[in-house]
Amino acid sequence: MAKPTENSGKVPIYDARAGKVEMVDRVVKSDAEWKKILTPEQYEVTRRQGTEKAFSGQCEIPEEEGLYECVDCGTDLFGVGTKFESGTGWPSFYEPVSSLNVTLEEDKSFGMDRVAADCARCGAHLGHVFDDGPPPTGKRYCINSVALKFVKTGYKPLKTATFAAGCFWGVQEQFRMVKGVVFTRVGYTGGHAKNPTYEQVCAGKTGHAESIEIQYDPSVVTYGELLDEFWNIHDPTTMNRQGPDVGSNYRSAIFYHDTEQRKLALASKEKLEKSGKYKNKIVTQVAAAGIFWPAEEYHQFYLMKRGLPPQCP
Ligand SMILES: [Zn+2]
Repeated sequence: MAKPTENSGKVPIYDARAGKVEMVDRVVKSDAEWKKILTPEQYEVTRRQGTEKAFSGQCEIPEEEGLYECVDCGTDLFGVGTKFESGTGWPSFYEPVSSLNVTLEEDKSFGMDRVAADCARCGAHLGHVFDDGPPPTGKRYCINSVALKFVKTGYKPLKTATFAAGCFWGVQEQFRMVKGVVFTRVGYTGGHAKNPTYEQVCAGKTGHAESIEIQYDPSVVTYGELLDEFWNIHDPTTMNRQGPDVGSNYRSAIFYHDTEQRKLALASKEKLEKSGKYKNKIVTQVAAAGIFWPAEEYHQFYLMKRGLPPQCP
């Protein structure tokens, strides 16, 4: 389901043309206002979680460089470079320009177990995400053509990395300073509970780990360098524990977003194990990234806002 549009406030959005992340106001309009600016089909799909008829829209891959923006609010969503022929009758992409711009949500409507994809800025329903896409991500973002507007333009996609290494305040402060890291946010992932709160995660019932989601420019920093930083800032040998923080929510984990990240994560874990740096076995979990739930606003950049050093108090 699309987020209710009365959910106002600022949200981080990646401008793929300018190559920067900005905190922008959510786009909030009443149904009457949306009806005024959208065609009936656009309204039905994006504001009422509709689905256009297969093969009714633009599935072919444009020859020119460009990207698809949200038809409701203009947010950059998908680059032409990630579009592929799926044969399903709906435009298909293997990843968005940034995971910031597309919100994923469990969708149990019509008796099906699906993951809905919405515009992160205006809540427009775009389509669904399935696990039968091509390499490198294996994902298929199955998107309604009427939810998209094609723009001929140059753009720069970001990559996403997700790690858990104990208390997320300190982890964010460490990664924030890495060159090539464009944006970070802390949150919860790896478990099963929807929309978890900090208290629920700390109580240990959600299965989620305190995590960081990193947006990085792969032309400046490599995933391998991010992995080095990850290993350096925590102890990967203590099961469900970092220093004084105990519980599965403080576990060490790498949540990979594509096959290349998975390969690099496993190889670096093995290399570190063989290096003899640690007496004990490395217990870091390596698992596929799922839905990331951003933490409450007061946890974001917690130490930076208070001028504290990058260790949890
Ligand atoms: Zn939008």
